[in-house]
Amino acid sequence: MEITNNEQPPTNKKKEMKKKIVILPGDGIGKEVTTEGKRVLEKIAELFDHTFEFNSAVIGHDAIEATGNPLPDETLAKLKNCDAILFGAVGHPKYDNDPTLKVRPEQGLLKMRKELGLYANLRPIKLFDELLEASSIKPEILKGSDILFFRELTGDVYFGEKGRKDDGNTAYDLMIYQRYEVERIAHKAFQAARTRNRKVTSVDKANVLESSRLWREVVQEVGKQYPDVALDHQFVDAAAMKLIQNPRSYDVVVTGNLFGDILTDEASQIAGSMGMLASASVGDKVGLYEPIHGSAHDITGKGIANPLASILSAALLLDISLGMKPEAETVIKAVEAVLKSGYRTADIADAKTAKDKILNTQQMGAQVVTRLEKVASKATMATNN
Ligand code: NAD
Repeated sequence: MEITNNEQPPTNKKKEMKKKIVILPGDGIGKEVTTEGKRVLEKIAELFDHTFEFNSAVIGHDAIEATGNPLPDETLAKLKNCDAILFGAVGHPKYDNDPTLKVRPEQGLLKMRKELGLYANLRPIKLFDELLEASSIKPEILKGSDILFFRELTGDVYFGEKGRKDDGNTAYDLMIYQRYEVERIAHKAFQAARTRNRKVTSVDKANVLESSRLWREVVQEVGKQYPDVALDHQFVDAAAMKLIQNPRSYDVVVTGNLFGDILTDEASQIAGSMGMLASASVGDKVGLYEPIHGSAHDITGKGIANPLASILSAALLLDISLGMKPEAETVIKAVEAVLKSGYRTADIADAKTAKDKILNTQQMGAQVVTRLEKVASKATMATNN
């Protein structure tokens, strides 16, 4: 066949993709771990012939220091004009024990979620077999656990009216949910369950809270549109207990902002450490990817933060926002390979870890990057054979 000007010769290479990614390091160890997440994305671009245009922006304490605003307009404009965001964390000790400070880093985070319409926070809780011993839960209870949390992100007490009464001795935060907010996240949870084990557990406190009764009613209604997915409901207190008693009993969990915040930190113990858990915040526009941990003042600047949650967040970014599943799987396999080789950061090391296998943040990032090359070339060889 003759090749015309419009036709390309056949090639084994995948179509090159150009994508804009904003790196939003934030504060504390956010900066340290996103450096490694970005390194992994750069290597993926090189290995798979993509062009990733990186841009960076400030948020949180750093942004307050520079501009007086925890989410400057310039940052927001960059976030609205990209394909995906890799975020670190916000927070600084200065604010944690001083409630009188009116401008706070977390305001930047909440405003960003609202402005970008990021209403669903996905938190995959999956234990790498190599880390079975790192958890405080017995290996026989943990093995095979694979939970996908959907935490609602733009409603609940975090966004309801809040304040102090005149006497200053009474404070309130309104727990509030609207039907559409529950509907849209419930749909996301049921749709995800269809690609997994077809089970949704909705967590609420419907025995005492009116907002939870609305939550349950709406989830039941939405559930009728997914007759192939089993639905059950649990009260949050019972769920907190069952989550570590029998984590394998869960597939997809959907819950509100406050309960999700607490339960997913608890669930981090299933994955061994806070430093292992990635998350994706999505809505109808750009997606934001971040570790579930905070800025960790206690270890900031020591170079010992585990970057794997940020690296696994980069994998979610590739998969969900950029539609690059093979690239995302390459990252996950590279992380698995590093763990299989016995390398650990301090937070996931145990008594059996040899001293020379305990890596700092940069060394762990470098190990993953090295493995990426090996995993990708193995995959290419398998395709060519
Ligand atoms: P944190 O998640 O920062 O830390 C909790 C504990 O886990 C600490 O002991 C820390 O050293 C450890 N840890 C966390 N990430 C780790 C990693 N990658 N590697 C090794 N160990 C890790 O929670 P915190 O201490 O309650 O909060 C610290 C600050 O972070 C506060 O200012 C808080 O407001 C903020 N915060 C921000 C976010 C966010 O930006 N999304 C989330 C949670 C907390």
